[in-house]
Amino acid sequence: MSAIGMLDLRAEYAELRAEIDQAVLRVLASGHFVLGPEGSALEAELAAMTGAAHAVAVASGTDALHLALRAAGIGPGDDVVVPAFTFIATAEAVTYTGARPIFADIDAASFNATAATLEAALTPATRAVIVVHLYGQCAEMPAIAALCASRGIILIEDCAQAIGADYDGRAAGAWGAFGCFSFYPTKNLGAYGDAGLVTVRDPGDAERVRMLRHHGSRQTYQHEIVGYNSRLDELQAAILRVKLPQLARFNEARRRAAARYRAGLDGSGVVLPAEHGHGLHVYHQFTIRSARRDALRAALGESGIASAVYYPLPVHRQPAYAASVGALELPASDAAAASVLSLPIHPYLREADVDRVCAVLRDAKP
Ligand SMILES: *Cc1c(COP(=O)(O)O)cnc(C)c1O
Repeated sequence: MSAIGMLDLRAEYAELRAEIDQAVLRVLASGHFVLGPEGSALEAELAAMTGAAHAVAVASGTDALHLALRAAGIGPGDDVVVPAFTFIATAEAVTYTGARPIFADIDAASFNATAATLEAALTPATRAVIVVHLYGQCAEMPAIAALCASRGIILIEDCAQAIGADYDGRAAGAWGAFGCFSFYPTKNLGAYGDAGLVTVRDPGDAERVRMLRHHGSRQTYQHEIVGYNSRLDELQAAILRVKLPQLARFNEARRRAAARYRAGLDGSGVVLPAEHGHGLHVYHQFTIRSARRDALRAALGESGIASAVYYPLPVHRQPAYAASVGALELPASDAAAASVLSLPIHPYLREADVDRVCAVLRDAKP
């Protein structure tokens, strides 16, 4: 039996090859490689898709977070609340600015921070909150937006895993002052290299992100502030523009696979991921929970089926942060790290593959 991987980027390229090759050749022939018409068009398309007022393409999702924080004026002396159960980049971006990440716990069922867990983490110096839409489902945005508004706190969304998701019809990236997207190759909309984008509500903030990505410059060799080199290249933008019209179909295929996992794993003893019913879950990951996680993972591996643990350590327990954080107890984050298991999910996963994964999980001996 053939192996089942976490994703299949080669199948995607095989399907879109004619269009992608054409887009790449178009850029190569244009002689225009950084900050050009492809990037501008991608920005307009992402703004239209999310309903955000502005979009600024940058070099990665990590840079999207960093430049959003910088554009918001976050720096030394400020605290920024982030969920502990996320990819480390969410916290790193805060550290880059000189501000301090403050770790909030999550809700065990949704894997996301809630208004209550974020509020419990607020400090007098908290100036911003980064909410993460983990695994492809939006956090409870009305309550979180209301909390931030009532405290005068800047709301930033980490949408790296949630492009195409929404809460009550409002897209991920359209709730906060900034929405930070990653187009890392494994994300639901992936480039063929690193790439990212910031959606922005305020025109002044958007202008600041534009300057920050380009050495603090609006006009050639006029540098108003000290910035960075974080521009999106035209090849990645052109490739992303081929894939963007396919995103809804890709996300729908992920949702179909998720529904099949649900049916196939019903009654198997593993905890299935909860949908809150307030909008589209785009299943960047299909993540089950089980006290027997490691045994299940081993059984899958023996059958040639990939699986992954996102994340085995919450960020506050990572060596990079543990010493500075001290004795902080975030029980739901710890419990998630000890029990989560993400199963293969991608637009090219076959029904028979889902069934095979379910059969192995059902048969795994306790
Ligand atoms: C992937 C990811 C990032 C970082 O994006 P890069 O493009 O890899 O820099 C940030 N936050 C979350 C939640 C992610 O999944």
